[in-house]
Amino acid sequence: MEKDGEPSTIDPQLSTIWAALAQVPDPEIPVVSIVDMGMVREVEVDGGRVSVTFTPTFSGCPALHVIRQSIEDAVRALGVLDVEVRSTLTPPWTTDWINADARERLRQYGIAPPAPAGEGLITLEAEPTRCPRCGSLNVNLTASFGSTLCKRLYVCGSCREPFEGFKSV
Ligand SMILES: [Zn+2]
Repeated sequence: MEKDGEPSTIDPQLSTIWAALAQVPDPEIPVVSIVDMGMVREVEVDGGRVSVTFTPTFSGCPALHVIRQSIEDAVRALGVLDVEVRSTLTPPWTTDWINADARERLRQYGIAPPAPAGEGLITLEAEPTRCPRCGSLNVNLTASFGSTLCKRLYVCGSCREPFEGFKSV
């Protein structure tokens, strides 16, 4: 690991890298990984060099450098010396990239999973937001943004519990 200037002798497998990235938690929501959230867009292996391209969930999220460092650390932990981490905003991240398993874990964590963004439809809130606790549709938006720029804060009109929901983008 400390051979200055020497190329890595390890030839990492793509699947190994993806598996390692799947262990990197979302910095905002630790119950899901950055792979679950669809943030990792591309992994390239060129000899001993690994390039990872990711798209942050929201450009306003403050965790960009945290994600970048976590990706780099995860790949380096595999013994890869030469790691490049790039972020891209094109195409922009969409809640549609969150995998089904992660949506269920978000719900159990108390965050309302995002409604499908819709195929090219210019509609916000294509599907109503449900309370993650009682399932009621009688919810009220209390603030445009929750504890982070990524989420909205709701209050359930049935069980009176506040909860966070994703903005569908
Ligand atoms: Zn409720």
